Amino acid sequence: MNDFLIYSKCCWIDGQITEATLHISKGKIAAIYPEKYYDDTIEFLDYNNSIIMPGIIDAHVHINEPGRTHWEGFDSATKAAALGGVTTLIEMPLNADPVTTNIKAFEIKKHATKNKLHVNCGFYGGAVPGNENDIEPLIKAGVFGIKGFLTHSGIDEFPNVTKGDLEKIAPILAKFNVPLLLHCEFGEEKNIPQVQPKSYRAYLASRPTEWELNALRITQDIQEKYNIKTHIVHLSAAKGLQSINYHKKHTEKLTVETCPHYLYFTAEDIPDASPIYKCAPPIREKENNDALWEGLLNDEFDFLASDHSPAPPEIKKLDEGNLFEAWGGIAGLQFTLPVVWTAGQKRGLTLEKLIPLLTANPAKFLGLDHKKGQLKKGFDADITVWDDTKEFKVTESIIAHKHKVTPYMNHTLKGKIIHTFVNGIQVVKNEELNTLNAGELLLKTK
Ligand SMILES: [Zn+2]
Repeated sequence: MNDFLIYSKCCWIDGQITEATLHISKGKIAAIYPEKYYDDTIEFLDYNNSIIMPGIIDAHVHINEPGRTHWEGFDSATKAAALGGVTTLIEMPLNADPVTTNIKAFEIKKHATKNKLHVNCGFYGGAVPGNENDIEPLIKAGVFGIKGFLTHSGIDEFPNVTKGDLEKIAPILAKFNVPLLLHCEFGEEKNIPQVQPKSYRAYLASRPTEWELNALRITQDIQEKYNIKTHIVHLSAAKGLQSINYHKKHTEKLTVETCPHYLYFTAEDIPDASPIYKCAPPIREKENNDALWEGLLNDEFDFLASDHSPAPPEIKKLDEGNLFEAWGGIAGLQFTLPVVWTAGQKRGLTLEKLIPLLTANPAKFLGLDHKKGQLKKGFDADITVWDDTKEFKVTESIIAHKHKVTPYMNHTLKGKIIHTFVNGIQVVKNEELNTLNAGELLLKTK
């Protein structure tokens, strides 16, 4: 199936929902017709009222391979991605062993993807103390950005950087115009764990809003001083938007993402002894959740990303319920679209607002906007087809990532992915995996 037509009354083209037929040929969108268009010689797929949109681009995913493949892996993660309508993802440098902080480790990781990419996959390199000489080779080898932590990362081989470390690599990032991505938490360790290790309140208090605000100051200083592209990953504290908005008035190089779990859950609803909800920064109170939504609807976020970060149930401490010892990370890359769409129903979220946050905006951030993120003639045929009215329940049997451990379990979500095309190949057909190994390894070329 190299050449085919797909049709719907609801295609996302040029910033609006419109009737169209797309001619897919040799992995690209060869033509777009503004009505039902038939050609007897080409297969015609009638998707009726389903939404046809560009494939989701998830710019923040942890896959843990090689070295921690018992946590996740390219095969399982990219199957889950495809079933969730994600056609491109960018993988983080810290959870593989070796960590991706030099060119040798990057080569090992690329090798580990062989015959396991069911969607397109690119990578970030990592900044750790002392690896400033490795940054330029990583950039030249094609990473999409350099990621660092301002607090302990959870992985001992990936220590956090100081402002001084960032000052050393900033000129290199400026030279190549490659983004610095920062985990923004910074503050003194709070000594609450011994008291109530199973209390979500205690965990929340141990990583306060103040930590995010402190880190934002460091981040914005570096951005301003070196005029480099700087990206704030997974903002949880909505209060941070105030200073981000202020800095954005002076630069287009500062960007920020948030994640589905911060938009869907609130601290008040999280029971104690449930590390399945543990992530860092933490999911905060309802008041904060309201403010995140206000920011999202007011276009204050550049894009959404899953921050899919799974771990085996033992490491998540699901039996013991100790929030301080559990791995912090939420598994959910398969459910980004339905989670945000479901939570957005009571907030007035529109398709016009949602779709760019998952497609064109991350494409722009990654420098892929010349070929991905839109349904446009000549662009890659990465396409997601979904039903915005269909509800489904999250159960173990539908989860394709390695461990069937997610806080969305048993939740009923609205918005079902029906078909996914990657590079013109139908990877998901009628909600099930169809053709594998359609993904490409993506390297940043300029
Ligand atoms: Zn992350």
